[in-house]
Amino acid sequence: MEPRLEVGGLTRRFGGREVVRDVSFAIAAGQVSCLLGPSGCGKSTTLRLIAGVDLPDGGTIRVDGRPMVEGAVRVPPEKRGIGLMFQDFALFPHLTVAQNVGFGLPKGTPGRAERVADLLERVGMTRHAGKHPHELSGGEQQRVALARALAPRPRIMLMDEPFSGLDDRLRDDIRDETLAVLKAEGTAVLLVTHEPTEAMRMADEILLMRDGRIVQAGAPYTIYNNPVDLRAAAFFSDLN
Ligand code: ADP
Ligand code: MG
Repeated sequence: MEPRLEVGGLTRRFGGREVVRDVSFAIAAGQVSCLLGPSGCGKSTTLRLIAGVDLPDGGTIRVDGRPMVEGAVRVPPEKRGIGLMFQDFALFPHLTVAQNVGFGLPKGTPGRAERVADLLERVGMTRHAGKHPHELSGGEQQRVALARALAPRPRIMLMDEPFSGLDDRLRDDIRDETLAVLKAEGTAVLLVTHEPTEAMRMADEILLMRDGRIVQAGAPYTIYNNPVDLRAAAFFSDLN
């Protein structure tokens, strides 16, 4: 089967410095891959290239086999079928929870109200539908942000350290809930994190990144038990 997302030889330079170097990987529908690595290794830049808000100096990006970046093709961000979630949830403060979730669905879209209601149900926010973001806790805002990102049924979800603003106790619950919702939706997920624990907990596959390169890719416990080198081993030794 065609991978949902396929990235080949992705490269990005800033002022002559290669920040993303020959990055290649694929993600299937329903699969969660974690781009894991220390701060500054190029994770967010990679995500921005895939989202289409930045363009690579080389390499290809395909969604369901369709070129997004390849040869002369440059598909704009809004036409890539990609949903985004960042630490800074950026819900619209003047809109209710339900309006936030419906935002990416044009008025008149068939089944719009049902889709919003279904997503609110699945993230456990039905009874907060009429509230505004400032009336919600951080965890609740996170749930709404997830529902909003999923509303237009993106082929791929890109998540950049989405849980780092949450306190420890809440974070585990939200991670598990988020994973369950994403799995039920069948979206391909690329989750960026600098925390080995988070990647171990959430990933089907870990892409270990360092200095702009993927230095190792594999199932969480395969990488954990067989780190590619001492630096990878040391990185995972922080696991708690
Ligand atoms: P990460 O998300 O892994 O912490 P980033 O992808 O944000 O890393 O950044 C990787 C490197 O690229 C960093 O050294 C950062 O300073 C640099 N960088 C990112 N964006 C730009 C930019 N627009 N101009 C110049 N340098 C950048
Ligand atoms: Mg980053």
